Amino acid sequence: MVSKSYIKYHFSDFTRDNYRKIIRLAKKNYIVRDFINYKENEKFIILRHDMDYSVNSSLKLALIEKEEKVKSTYFVYIHSFLYNILEKRIHDLLLQIIRLGHNVGLHFDCNFYSRKAVKDMESFITKEKDLLEDYLKTKIKVVSFHNPINIKDFSKHYLAGMINVYSDYFMNKIDYISDSNGYWRFRRLEDVIKEANKPLQVLIHPEYWTDQVMSPKERIWRCIEGRADNSRDAFLEIMKQTKRRMID
Ligand SMILES: [Zn+2]
Repeated sequence: MVSKSYIKYHFSDFTRDNYRKIIRLAKKNYIVRDFINYKENEKFIILRHDMDYSVNSSLKLALIEKEEKVKSTYFVYIHSFLYNILEKRIHDLLLQIIRLGHNVGLHFDCNFYSRKAVKDMESFITKEKDLLEDYLKTKIKVVSFHNPINIKDFSKHYLAGMINVYSDYFMNKIDYISDSNGYWRFRRLEDVIKEANKPLQVLIHPEYWTDQVMSPKERIWRCIEGRADNSRDAFLEIMKQTKRRMID
């Protein structure tokens, strides 16, 4: 028996198999572009991934996209509390995503800095961009924002020398759909792609897409527990390598 929430919030949409189906449908109805190479008179789709909590899940979607021969943009969130870009394992995963041919952007958290207007944050945006470029040895050409609540002036097309995916063009002139918090707020992605009325920006958070059908809470709990498991495994590996005893 499936619950009311299962039907209402389309739990079964958020599997990796279904992601592949959506990509195949998107390829039929749109030209897949990125934030740099789109043409305004085309019916294009841009795939965007804000990596809030999981680089592991991101790589899984990146592999599906590679197999389906589409390119997307993965936005790195350097202040995430569920992954640390300086960790070797995460660094390797990020490099793998880049090697698959995808773009990397900066996912900037306005709330980390106590400023309310984007113009007062441009120097911080530049610093984070420089840090990522140096660390990943790749050009960062696009920026997206993490939970930009009560933040002013988003409309500029370029910020800190990068394309702003929250600009007036990308947010208001073309269609936009997001899976924020693991459900569709207004319309299902599949329906939007079937209709394919206008160019479309799709925001997918990889941690909300799993192999099994789960509720949004179960999907995010799985991600948190996966992080804990990885930390435990890394710790045990160090104990083994250094031949230390674990006293219980
Ligand atoms: Zn975010």
